[in-house]
Amino acid sequence: MIIKPFKEPIYVTRPFLPPLNEYADGLKEIWDSKWLTNNGPVLNRFSKELCDYFETENVCLFNNGTLALQIALQGMGISGEVITTPFTFVATTHALTWNKIRPVFVDIEPDYYTIDPEKVEAAITPWTTAILAVHVYGHPCMLDALTDIARRYNIKLIYDAAHAFGTKVGLKSIAHFGDMSMFSFHSTKLFHSIEGGMLIFPETGFKSTFNYLKNFGFKNEVEVVMPGTNAKMNEMQALMGIQVLKYINEIIEKRSKITKMYRDCLKNIPGIILPPPLPAHIENNHAYIPIEVIEKEFGMSRDALYEKLKLYNVFSRRYFFPLICDFACYQGFPVVDPLDVARGVANRILCLPIYDGLDLNDVKMICEIIREFQTGKNLL
Ligand SMILES: *Cc1c(COP(=O)(O)O)cnc(C)c1O
Repeated sequence: MIIKPFKEPIYVTRPFLPPLNEYADGLKEIWDSKWLTNNGPVLNRFSKELCDYFETENVCLFNNGTLALQIALQGMGISGEVITTPFTFVATTHALTWNKIRPVFVDIEPDYYTIDPEKVEAAITPWTTAILAVHVYGHPCMLDALTDIARRYNIKLIYDAAHAFGTKVGLKSIAHFGDMSMFSFHSTKLFHSIEGGMLIFPETGFKSTFNYLKNFGFKNEVEVVMPGTNAKMNEMQALMGIQVLKYINEIIEKRSKITKMYRDCLKNIPGIILPPPLPAHIENNHAYIPIEVIEKEFGMSRDALYEKLKLYNVFSRRYFFPLICDFACYQGFPVVDPLDVARGVANRILCLPIYDGLDLNDVKMICEIIREFQTGKNLL
């Protein structure tokens, strides 16, 4: 069989969009209220719904995840050095450098690609004030080990949970671990509000600080209590968030079928490796489909596969390559850890398309294309 390219491009992700009439009805309310931003009624409704969803009182919303993280670090008074992973999106590290905090990169573990607790402990110095770990691809970090280290060294534990909306550990949301969790609601993420960000934290006292920091430090009309920035979520964003939240269970359900299809169809292709299934007490949110390409067995490098898939109109992404420490703006930071695992993974990793509207037959076909590359049968 000669496989033909897809007629329409298949991207690594597509945002879920609620029915247009539902969004239009919501817009009508915003038009009537003439309240577009600054802690409006829709934002407050969204915030309450998120409190219910995450079973917490402490939710703070922002116009994007990057500013949420920057404000979290500043509001918590983090300084000096923070131990973090080089295998993430650049915004994780940028949030540190914007706060004049030195990132200390350590290696990841090879199964789920989250930060390696042993490496974290080895990198602690008198200047270390926090660990900034990432639930990369929605995979929970090694929570117990990190909690233990943070407690023993009296440092803060902050999670970049940008990928982890909907991930649960023992029926509890991933948001309930550590001193702080940041979620991104960017359109490319599993759950979105066009753009948006959220902090969830156990310490209620942070709430007013974050509210000041995201609104220029205003306490009231005449008092400014800290040099804040502008990081407020607006009403149109909040409206999108409310409407996507209504469908979140359906979205995750559809994605779980896609994951299953990929797992079934990619198994037994030499040189294609998927992360091991998550342990039974963890509920996967199916945010990404990362695979590793072992060139020797697959017969083609990751980069070659990435390019070849494009010929079939399939647009995968090399999340996360290069490592953050290899970007020009971070090359000046000394890296003590050899980062052997992270370097290897960054050279082999490829994220395949997944979104709620992706047809299961198309998933099957993408896997078939990959299989034929391996057997060398494919003609394109
Ligand atoms: C998307 C993302 C961010 C940034 O979130 P924005 O809402 O796009 O600002 C931070 N960290 C990780 C790991 C991300 O994937």
